[in-house]
Order: sequence, then structure tokens, then C-alpha cells
Amino acid sequence: MTEDNIINMPIKDSKCPICSKPAVHKYKPFCSKRCADVDLGKWFSESYSLPEDETDVDDYSSVEE
Ligand SMILES: [Zn+2]
Repeated sequence: MTEDNIINMPIKDSKCPICSKPAVHKYKPFCSKRCADVDLGKWFSESYSLPEDETDVDDYSSVEE
């Protein structure tokens, strides 16, 4: 078996978090590059739109009146 076969093999007990199909070693923990890209895009857009409420907490002490 070549290394290429191994990385394309489904991982037992590991499901793709995007589509719930069996994940493969190559794109672990995803089933395909497509799902890996989807997750990456999701992660990026979430971090971009992350609310900055927590940093405001620090401001309260200095602006407190
Ligand atoms: Zn998938």
C-alpha cells in the first residue's frame, strides 16, 4: 500500500464536522478538501466578525466615573 492510499483512506470513528461523512487521513478531520476549505472559511469569517465586548471590560475601569 502506498502512502497515497493511506491518506485517502477513511478514518474509523472520525466524522467530517461539515457533512458528517467519514473523514480521510489526508484532510483530517474532514472528508475532503472542499469541507476543509468550508471550515477554514467559516473560521476566518467568524474571527473577522468577532465582537470585541471582552476588550471593553478593560476600558470600564479607566473610564469609570
Ligand atoms: Zn465533509
